[in-house]
Amino acid sequence: MTAWTASLDALPRLSLVCEPTPLAPARRLSAALGGPQLWFKRDDLLPFAFGGNKVRSLDLIVAEALRQGADTLVTGAGPLSNHVRASAGVAAMTGLRCIAIYWGAAPPRVEGNHWLTRMLGAEIVFTGDADRASVDRGIKASVAKVVARGGRPFSVPRGGACALGALAHVLAVRETLEQCADLGVMPQAVVMAVGGAGTLAGWLLGTALFGATWRLEAITVSRPAAEALSRARNLAAEAAAALDCPAQLGSVKLFVHDGFLGAGYGVPSPEGKGAIVATARAEGVFLDPTYTGKAMAGYRTLLSQGRYAGADDVLFLHTGGAPSLFTAAVEGMS
Ligand SMILES: *Cc1c(COP(=O)(O)O)cnc(C)c1O
Repeated sequence: MTAWTASLDALPRLSLVCEPTPLAPARRLSAALGGPQLWFKRDDLLPFAFGGNKVRSLDLIVAEALRQGADTLVTGAGPLSNHVRASAGVAAMTGLRCIAIYWGAAPPRVEGNHWLTRMLGAEIVFTGDADRASVDRGIKASVAKVVARGGRPFSVPRGGACALGALAHVLAVRETLEQCADLGVMPQAVVMAVGGAGTLAGWLLGTALFGATWRLEAITVSRPAAEALSRARNLAAEAAAALDCPAQLGSVKLFVHDGFLGAGYGVPSPEGKGAIVATARAEGVFLDPTYTGKAMAGYRTLLSQGRYAGADDVLFLHTGGAPSLFTAAVEGMS
């Protein structure tokens, strides 16, 4: 065992993941689409607070917060954020206070993850500013207030996009490679949605460290592809430095695709809705309108353009997000 694998295994964890999450063939969807056999890596099924990729990140992040003696978790994003819902869940379960900073003003209807976050007991603060970066300022201000009152805050950046969060997804890569070996398949590509890029960063670093031969294909759902790519590279480099490991990030085939965002982050697109309905009807699996539905729409388009010609197997990372199906924005979808 090398020093960095020992450091990876020694990271404090809450053990909320109960790995491995299922890796299952999507047979009817693959047949309907034509092309490679598609496999779903079901991180949506993480057995905690409706799961998803954010639970993986928080498994490490909140373990570190507890190790540092924190009593309050401060984080934020938009009101329908999966990350904030998962943070509120982990805070509840570990007895931490949770302060959630949402951009914009309180919406007229409390729904989806916003509803769940309230139910979990988080204290919610709206920045009153529609600019997403107002959340970063709100987190700072909230941390200062907690300190002034004698509390011990631990702040988690928007989306949990930080080196420690990325390392959780390095563990996911190792887990997935073990499953692939057991099944005797080696996907030629891994397809996923990218937002804040902590997940992609972890897959990038894990792919480099464990020498996986697949190429990474990310569909951006919130920022321009070039920005998502540089965020992923920077976070992967930070995570590699934290682990003190010799990662050859440049050796990984990594692509981030523009073109599937639709009208904007969190706004359901017609192509995404089509992908959600097709996946539900072929597999009984629910994708979400903000991330995985748009990623599947991207996969379908890229497939039709011949991008997976010659590939036998493709892995689709299902990162969760189903609570967003229970919101007004997706009504009338079917
Ligand atoms: C946050 C999120 C993503 C994107 O993950 P990042 O690490 O922010 O890039 C994908 N899918 C779902 C369901 C998410 O909540």
